[in-house]
Amino acid sequence: MHELSIALNILDIAAEEAERRNIDCVEAVHIKLGPLSGIVKSALLSAFDLAREHSALPAARLVVEDVPIVLYCEHCQAEQPVESIQELVCPVCRTPSNHVVAGREMEITALEVTALEITDPDIKA
Ligand SMILES: [Zn+2]
Repeated sequence: MHELSIALNILDIAAEEAERRNIDCVEAVHIKLGPLSGIVKSALLSAFDLAREHSALPAARLVVEDVPIVLYCEHCQAEQPVESIQELVCPVCRTPSNHVVAGREMEITALEVTALEITDPDIKA
């Protein structure tokens, strides 16, 4: 499964980064995901849940930020956000464009870590 290898890859990169910075517990890994990345978000989320159990980061959640598709429109000479993934056209002048500026990315943007250890069970977040 395509998404499982991507999930393992994300965990690897995050674990490496955590080790480099001496972080014991990563609570969440934040990624940016474009609709044209070829990755199915729901499949990635469930693959990540499976993969993390046997990884160095069993407690890490995956937080996905959806990135909009942005095209460069030759006619408007401007970058334009696309309204539908089915239709790669400029929202202003309806000119089709193959010049994708954003929307293909899959990148790790942040690691969320436990800043301090709370030992008092009465303290609730
Ligand atoms: Zn246009």
